[in-house]
Amino acid sequence: MSALKKPANIVGTVLILLLFLYPLVGSETRYFESVLIVCMLYAIMASGWNIISGLAGYVSLGHSVYLYIGMYTGAILGKMWGVPPMYLMVLGGVVAAAIAVVVGFITLRTRSHSFVIITIAVLLLFMTIAQNWKSLTGGTDGFIVKQPEWNKDSPTTPYYYIFLGLMVLTVALVAFIMRSRLGAGLVAIRNDEGKAASIGINTTLYKVTAYALSAVPFGFAGAVYAQYLGFVTPTTALAILMSVFLVLAALVGGRGTLWGPVIGGFLVWGANEASTVLAGEFSARLLIMGVILILTVMFMPAGLLPTISRFVHRRKSQGSAVAFIDQATIAQTRDVAIDSIVARTGQSTDPVVPALEVKGIVKRFGGVTAVDGVSMTVERGSITGLIGPNGSGKTTLFNCMTGTFQPDEGAVFLNGEDITRQKVWTRAHEGLGRTFQITRLFKSMTVLDNLVAPLEKTSVRELVAGRYSGEDVERAREVLDFMGLAQFEGQEAAALSFGQQKLVELAQVLMLRPSIILLDEPASGINPTLIEKLASVIRRLNDAGTTVLIVEHNIPLVLSLCDRVHVLAEGQVLISGTPDEIRNDPQVIEAYLGPDHMLEVNDV
Ligand code: ADP
Ligand code: MG
Repeated sequence: MSALKKPANIVGTVLILLLFLYPLVGSETRYFESVLIVCMLYAIMASGWNIISGLAGYVSLGHSVYLYIGMYTGAILGKMWGVPPMYLMVLGGVVAAAIAVVVGFITLRTRSHSFVIITIAVLLLFMTIAQNWKSLTGGTDGFIVKQPEWNKDSPTTPYYYIFLGLMVLTVALVAFIMRSRLGAGLVAIRNDEGKAASIGINTTLYKVTAYALSAVPFGFAGAVYAQYLGFVTPTTALAILMSVFLVLAALVGGRGTLWGPVIGGFLVWGANEASTVLAGEFSARLLIMGVILILTVMFMPAGLLPTISRFVHRRKSQGSAVAFIDQATIAQTRDVAIDSIVARTGQSTDPVVPALEVKGIVKRFGGVTAVDGVSMTVERGSITGLIGPNGSGKTTLFNCMTGTFQPDEGAVFLNGEDITRQKVWTRAHEGLGRTFQITRLFKSMTVLDNLVAPLEKTSVRELVAGRYSGEDVERAREVLDFMGLAQFEGQEAAALSFGQQKLVELAQVLMLRPSIILLDEPASGINPTLIEKLASVIRRLNDAGTTVLIVEHNIPLVLSLCDRVHVLAEGQVLISGTPDEIRNDPQVIEAYLGPDHMLEVNDV
């Protein structure tokens, strides 16, 4: 996508310049000015929508409700105070954002289809309120809006410039968000929400913030639009159509991009206007818009800008074959001061308090009891192993420890503190890091972006900071150096081999300076060179004071690395002991390893 960022910025800037000049040079401008005003309105709405639906991936189909809220806020307060609604556009934005916080807090608990449907329901709900609260809204008839004096001689041009200004501000807002840590977090949420939480992203806060911010441009534009139209009514059909059109604009241009929704707004409303002129009939217009929607979804599902970008990118990279990443080169770890990687201040170093402890954990899925009363400790500074056959509950136990699942019974203690009720991201901030059995990197992001996405703490300052700002990038590069991954910094995560992705995921976790790392089958499915590399990284981290809990089927690796091993079978702890005790335990041999096991410690 980056291949087109600069050209898109140029096209966008030129577009704005042309729009600025148009009323100055156009002679018979009034008709086109009024068309362009609606184009800009759609560009504003599609860009605002892009914040929650393009960046964070929560598709809202009822977002025009915030335009209506802006319109009613401006019109109602304007009537009460005797001011033209336009002057109240800031209030329109504030009210829209405030309502969005409440609505977002409720609706963002749902995902995908349910979320889409709820957003439509919210729109209908507000329409119903507007129709029935007659004393406030004038009911179905609505009411006429007071016009300012200057309005009488040059009705469209001032509005034209106000909408242009709002459009520029909206683009600036989206650009700012995209560059911030908030934006990185939103893209992370779109990629994989559960994973985002596990690296310390407060997903609820991010989503509600994005949802509220996305309503702000609607609220501003609404107050102005009410005055431009001269009246407000809750015309339901129009409202739903408006939501559909603005989503269409963002989809056609390219959601998730800065300029896509802007360009889409002009294309969609332009096409709509052209088809009205050509066909003259409402039904034909809708037919044409329907055809555009179908063609877009079929032939450029990502939208115009990303499609062009991919096309340009492919032509560019032809011949210069994508650098294939040699497995062997990764084995060289550059010497990086390990302390700066792992150092975590304010952490208890009392060896008596276990780094992690679970007591009586039970987790059921319907009739299956995946974890059945597990109690175990992970001593501070140890490398502890957790082995057991497939389906014995190891991953489920991890999920209970990290907060992905709430256990049905039992408690989890991190450094002696009961964290059973804590959110996933809070545990991550307190030093609990984990990797996944099947890697869960943010595939559309580069390796570096994957590393700077985690937040060590959540604060407004962190959220608005540039995503490559401060020491985070330096730290990310140090961690990549430490892992021997420096040369992959700019590569898309999806382009890496499975084993490399596992190392990147570990690097990502290290960004949080975890005091304990849970590794879920780090060596499965990866090349032997990388296994050696992995073992050495784990040892070095452990030497520097990091506690490790590792689930692994590679028994020689586990027995050579670990100080202590717990064996799980059918959701219960079968035995715990030193590697030697485990190696020779007849129960383990029978239950897990089988008679023809290979327990020799190989050269790992
Ligand atoms: P392991 O990691 O040891 O292979 P798991 O913890 O993945 O084992 O699975 C333990 C048991 O719990 C299995 O029977 C599995 O089918 C079941 N299980 C795990 N996760 C879920 C889930 N989200 N929903 C239903 N059943 C699950
Ligand atoms: Mg598992």
